[in-house]
Amino acid sequence: MNRDLGRHAVIGHPVAHSLSPRIQRAFAAQTGDRIDYTVIDAEPADFAAFARGFFKTGGVGLNVTVPHKRAAFECAAEHADSAALAGVANVLRLTADGVIEAHNTDGSGFMRDLRERHGFEPRGARVLLLGAGGAARGVGFALCEAGVEHLTIVNRTPQRARALAARLGPPAQARPWPHAEDAPQYDLIVNATAAGLHGQSLALPGALLTGAPLCHDLAYGAAAQPFLDWARAAGAPAVDGLGMLVETAADSFAIWHGRRPQTEPVLRALAR
Ligand code: NDP
Repeated sequence: MNRDLGRHAVIGHPVAHSLSPRIQRAFAAQTGDRIDYTVIDAEPADFAAFARGFFKTGGVGLNVTVPHKRAAFECAAEHADSAALAGVANVLRLTADGVIEAHNTDGSGFMRDLRERHGFEPRGARVLLLGAGGAARGVGFALCEAGVEHLTIVNRTPQRARALAARLGPPAQARPWPHAEDAPQYDLIVNATAAGLHGQSLALPGALLTGAPLCHDLAYGAAAQPFLDWARAAGAPAVDGLGMLVETAADSFAIWHGRRPQTEPVLRALAR
């Protein structure tokens, strides 16, 4: 189509490692369009000024990553349901009226990856969610909405797990970090902690893997390896977050440009 899609960026801190520029350029190229997509490293104190300045100077769309997802929610004047429910945003766009609008595609991207790529239907499933940060919020809402039987949330800082469970309501419940003697069976275990990013492993009892639940780490690359190794060593199927990343990116592209790009060829190229 050869359109110029305009100026976009991913904003985070740190953010140099981000795959978003590569993914978004590949999406634009599918229809011969051009996209200007850069990386903005902003300290938390500078986020709002950067984001507002970006849109004031003709920016079209922003992807937002750690640690700015709450600030992105707060700097927007309008909120799509996905962001309003999660209370954090990973996508900003400028509406035709010139207002900043917040979206959250973590939940939708996770769900599409789970269902379509890994063939897992969450309705009626028993799910363990590790972590209660920004990503856990979006994913937790999507899982509740999909009709899981129960969503058990555990977190290093227990009060954050309790706060998230209270926000989600039933079937979500907060529990203390699981021990061997307290390891009920799950169909799905989601690692939404940043432990792997810091090179740390989670102390999890092997008994959680009884029944070989699907183990999904939202992280990818080296950060996902400890959790994937833990699951696979016990024969449980385990997948990383690269597929989710590409799906969330496709959802943001669709929010900005009204067309959802193909994800499979982009994921294959990244995995290579
Ligand atoms: P946040 O900083 O908002 O939350 C981090 C979470 O990890 C908190 O629950 C925190 O617990 C927990 N945590 C951190 N270190 C440890 C540790 N050593 N042991 C146990 N728990 C720990 O990050 P996000 O929610 O934004 O991201 C979480 C993960 O999800 C990251 O790996 C990120 O890369 C990934 N992600 C992947 C996406 C994708 O598209 N694939 C999208 C978004 C995120 P506490 O509350 O105690 O601090």
